[in-house]
Amino acid sequence: MRIVLLGAPGSGKGTQAALLEQHLGLPHISTGVLLRTAVQEQTELGLQAAAIMDRGELVPDDVMLELIEQRLGRPDVDRGFLLDGYPRNLAQAESLDALLERLDQPVEEVIQIDIDPEQVIARIAKRAEQEDRSDDTEEVVRNRMRVYQEQTAPVAGYYAERGLLTRVLGDGSIEEVQQLILSVLDQGESGLPA
Ligand code: ADP
Repeated sequence: MRIVLLGAPGSGKGTQAALLEQHLGLPHISTGVLLRTAVQEQTELGLQAAAIMDRGELVPDDVMLELIEQRLGRPDVDRGFLLDGYPRNLAQAESLDALLERLDQPVEEVIQIDIDPEQVIARIAKRAEQEDRSDDTEEVVRNRMRVYQEQTAPVAGYYAERGLLTRVLGDGSIEEVQQLILSVLDQGESGLPA
């Protein structure tokens, strides 16, 4: 199964992806995690990305493509993957399609977690207390939400046109949202129309 998860910052996308990783035994590939690791390790890429991330802007597409290409080249993605945080704009969606076409492994399912923006600010404030993320201040979160609306929201339309998108409501409990996602994936597997 090759799955892309979409959702605004604070939609619970990362949490759901981590649970799905356990449930489905597929690697959870989070570009946010890959980037934060690069920042911590002070790699060249990390040094380039840190300031951009701290503003809540998008890291350049060519840098991201290289990162994702490297990751998808590893052997653990043979049986599929859960992509979280990529693609984040239309250019990335097109690059990903081209890359996966070359690998003969097209995206099979795209799930968007929908959430009310007001809930997001509250959730992220809570997360900021638990994790030490320098991009979780209210001002930066608002910028990430703006970037999401302007650049990432159109990606849902891109996949909808290709018949790959299913939306789930993200305002239930973690378990409830997980069940919604699993039922979407089950239906896909049994061949019912989306
Ligand atoms: P969230 O979805 O909660 O905003 P992420 O961990 O997915 O957080 O991403 C954190 C930051 O990493 C983003 O604000 C952005 O700066 C950078 N980033 C992650 N994925 C991408 C991507 N595909 N393209 C560009 N920048 C990205």
